[in-house]
Amino acid sequence: MKALVYHGPGSKSLDERPMPVLADPGDAIVRVTHTTICGTDLHILKGDVPTCAPGRVLGHEGVGIVEAVGAGVATFKPGDHVLISCITSCGRCAFCRKGMYSHCTSGGWILGNTIDGTQADYVRVPHADTSLYPVPAGADEEALVMLSDILPTGFECGVLNGRVQPGCSVAIVGAGPIGLAALLTAQFYTPAEIVVIDLDAHRLATAQRFGATHVVNSAHEDPVAAVRTITGGLGADTVIEAVGVPATFELCQELVAAGGVIANVGVHGCKVDLHLETLWARNIAITTRLVDTTTTPMLMKTVLAGKLAPDHLITHRFTLDDILDAYDTFGRAAETQALKVLIAT
Ligand SMILES: [Zn+2]
Ligand SMILES: [Zn+2]
Repeated sequence: MKALVYHGPGSKSLDERPMPVLADPGDAIVRVTHTTICGTDLHILKGDVPTCAPGRVLGHEGVGIVEAVGAGVATFKPGDHVLISCITSCGRCAFCRKGMYSHCTSGGWILGNTIDGTQADYVRVPHADTSLYPVPAGADEEALVMLSDILPTGFECGVLNGRVQPGCSVAIVGAGPIGLAALLTAQFYTPAEIVVIDLDAHRLATAQRFGATHVVNSAHEDPVAAVRTITGGLGADTVIEAVGVPATFELCQELVAAGGVIANVGVHGCKVDLHLETLWARNIAITTRLVDTTTTPMLMKTVLAGKLAPDHLITHRFTLDDILDAYDTFGRAAETQALKVLIAT
């Protein structure tokens, strides 16, 4: 089969690899029909993710059709259409029993990290019963790829951790796919203001289409002053960090209102400063989280019911044969205006 293989920092290729085989009774082998590339894959290629060893097939998002299941799999059978979660969970360990699937002691984020992933014709999914989700007949399977990672990540790490409430003010720093996923799902709670801040005019225009009440181009405008004006001088009740660099995390500390929450979503590759000298008396909270994907079934219902249209995040389409072009397009998003690239196998 064909697979996109990581060969160490800066190096990847589309290789011929043996088909995955069932290694545990709980495994399923899934024929991947659609996958995508995540910002996290670019972090791996930069060498930011030491757990991902050279030789790894990348990818942790996708939908597909079950090809084979181990003897212990009760929920799925060959031929079933499934959504592959970016988080693998056993459902039984102490963390899973708390709903913290991201820290499952025999799972978590392992696909395309510590085991081979979804940017391939086939993938082995451990703990299939609790790590795959059934896709009903007739569903838009391309749109559902957005449910593997970015929608639950934006929702759980940004909106839920950020305690978005009716009438509150939300500032989202970063209008990439994750920031836009937070924007889409924040609207479940009808906040009064959602301000999206980015440097890219095209992404801000997309944010406006997706329901932002205000957009701020921080290349031309001071985002702190803009958010103060929009919120009557108070700052934002929820500030969602969806970039993952020191400058944006520091900006969040200036944007948050007294009593507010900074919900970090960004993947940080280096340390950042925490300004406790100004924040100690401000009653704020800072949250961090790796997505648990506990909300995936709920999000799937909203998509199937037409309440959420994540397919609007798909800007480019490729086949697995052209996945190197897909990486190039996704990696040069500022020039190509890429959000999510969909890859059909
Ligand atoms: Zn991802
Ligand atoms: Zn577990």
